[in-house]
Amino acid sequence: MADPIFLKARYVFPVASPPLENGVVTISRGRIVAVESHRGPLWAPHSGRGEGDYIDYGDAAILPGLVNAHTHLEFSDLTAPIGAPGIGLAKWIRRLIDAKINRPANSKQCVIQGLDESLRQGVTTIGEIAQQDFPWEDLPNFSPSGVAFGELIAPGNDHVPAAMELARSLEMRERSLVREGDSPIFPAEKLGQSPSWRIGISPHAPYSVHPALLNAVIKISAEKQIPLAMHLAESREELQLLAERSGPLRELLEELGVWDPSAFSLPRRPMDYLQMLSAAYRVLVVHGNYLQDDEITLLARRADRFSVVYCPRSHAWFRHGPYPLEKLLAAGVNVALGTDSRASAPNLSLLAEMRFVARNFPKLPEETILRMGTLHSARALGLDRELGSLELGKWANLVVFSTPKHKTVNLLNMILQDELPVLATWYQGKKLICSSTKNGDK
Ligand SMILES: [Zn+2]
Repeated sequence: MADPIFLKARYVFPVASPPLENGVVTISRGRIVAVESHRGPLWAPHSGRGEGDYIDYGDAAILPGLVNAHTHLEFSDLTAPIGAPGIGLAKWIRRLIDAKINRPANSKQCVIQGLDESLRQGVTTIGEIAQQDFPWEDLPNFSPSGVAFGELIAPGNDHVPAAMELARSLEMRERSLVREGDSPIFPAEKLGQSPSWRIGISPHAPYSVHPALLNAVIKISAEKQIPLAMHLAESREELQLLAERSGPLRELLEELGVWDPSAFSLPRRPMDYLQMLSAAYRVLVVHGNYLQDDEITLLARRADRFSVVYCPRSHAWFRHGPYPLEKLLAAGVNVALGTDSRASAPNLSLLAEMRFVARNFPKLPEETILRMGTLHSARALGLDRELGSLELGKWANLVVFSTPKHKTVNLLNMILQDELPVLATWYQGKKLICSSTKNGDK
């Protein structure tokens, strides 16, 4: 395509500033160089803008590319969540382990499948919990990128050395990534055939990570400035395990032969973990379904480094207690959105998560929901200076939605309520998918 590229739509939602009617987003060398309103024809002879590519999407809305702050793409081949609604976490983990052992698909292919699905749903940035066989060398030329959090599991003290070896290999990979100034994310050209990713570290959860490992990786996170993601305050079973050292998760650990009482000698509740995690560089508290008031206060006070990732449809799949979303937002916590994996959500559509939130929290302003799925999620991943809103100098990551022709008072409300299709996804100034060429798309 020529450079620059002018994209016009009836509405543009920059997120960091008010929506624009008849908005034009100008892209040059993969970055956003202008966001403005423009009446009249967009084409070169009439616009006085000179040469370039002109695309008028007509009745459509341009939004920043969506940011899925938490998923596990290794399960992208699953066609339905595991178990039945309301399944207990320990029971679900048993079924997940079985699924992992028995399914034929290779995990690399599943990751690639998940990246492709994400793109088709307008997701351009991902917080991925990555396995050791993450396909670094086989990633498609252009697909979403983001932060790959290497997963670490060590339920007992005996497992800590092996997990530490893995943590150190992640640290090495982080160091091997090319850096451009202090910018954490790079154009594909810089990394050869692979899209740009950065490294994170994910001590899995309180029931699967010995505090000895957790403390060691928190130190790595702080020293090497590597973001950390941990599932926390996810289920009542986790709270019971921490408070009483009993319940279905203890039974599961015993059954697997990995129960180590020393893992639970000190921590009694998620707050103990939050206090430990306060020393890390940047932390994504994944789920936080059962966060208490004092824990929310701590997260708000340390909002410079903590974010909470709400996974709405996964939360609903397990039928957890009411999610403290309004409390978190009112306290000033940075709340991001994630799909979690297809093992507990029907698909990888972040827009479906946003629509779910709109339906279940009708008092929440639509702008807040849009922010959670874009800028807040980007902030959680430490990428908000590079993406997450349509602002000058940020990567041109965009999603274009088809909108109805008739006049509407609140278009954003319509996007979040209706099943409007994704028309196109743009990643770093390149059009990756386009489901339709209507409305003068040239
Ligand atoms: Zn997860």
